[in-house]
Amino acid sequence: MDFPTTCPICGRENRAEYADSSVHDLTCVHCGARYCVLVRKQKFEVLFDLGTRALMDGYAREAVASFAAALERFFEFYVRAYVLERASDTAVDFGAATAALAGTWRHVASQSERQLGMFALAYLLREGREPDFLSPAALGADFRNRVIHRGELPTRGDVEGYAAQVFALIDRLLTELGGGAKQAELAQEQAFALHLAALPDGVTAVFEEHPGMFRARRFGSLVPMPKTGKTDAQPAPRSGMNSVRAYQQAQQQALFQRALTERGELLKRFKGGMEDTGQKV
Ligand SMILES: [Zn+2]
Repeated sequence: MDFPTTCPICGRENRAEYADSSVHDLTCVHCGARYCVLVRKQKFEVLFDLGTRALMDGYAREAVASFAAALERFFEFYVRAYVLERASDTAVDFGAATAALAGTWRHVASQSERQLGMFALAYLLREGREPDFLSPAALGADFRNRVIHRGELPTRGDVEGYAAQVFALIDRLLTELGGGAKQAELAQEQAFALHLAALPDGVTAVFEEHPGMFRARRFGSLVPMPKTGKTDAQPAPRSGMNSVRAYQQAQQQALFQRALTERGELLKRFKGGMEDTGQKV
């Protein structure tokens, strides 16, 4: 997937491929200027927004793959956030901590089951309780496997339900992390700083802060939020597992739909939509 960028010299558009590192070294096809676009966004945010875009464009199956990947990358983000948060609490050198973390992650990088194990332990250590949301049902694992591994063609409604489930889980865990996510975000800033220091003269750096779904929830909140805990119109369930599950699903859908609306409102603030938020430095 690619995204449009604006040349800081001539103001015209160039498209860039999303890079894993969030760093994009570009040469303007119109005027030849060199510039570097640094996207302040975590991998799971990029993937979730790609899923949302695919869903909106009618690619339901592709959307499922992106949402599933977003959840896996979020678990990685959580582990990173926890480890770096702990390191900062215990005055361990930040550079040493990120290097040890990178080395450790290499042992689990190729197997998502191992990563899930790392996440489960990180959650237990940080929160002091079992990550009860790791059940296959709560993760939508069956649906994901039917679509991704068995080629089932999902309906848009099914995908929206899955997206809502993934969104609600990530949103909940981000809320629990709170300020604990800061160190992981700092790690990205440090990687950016290293890259910037190595850039030759005459290259303009451009920072972009795309208003993605989770950023809209955390920093945007343009849609008035209800003040009570019961946020939506659905009545609370009276009894029985099925009605509890249906109630939770309705709550998740409402949360997801509200985040979509908030993101839409945030996008309207930026001329040209999601991409045109570059700030010249
Ligand atoms: Zn240009």
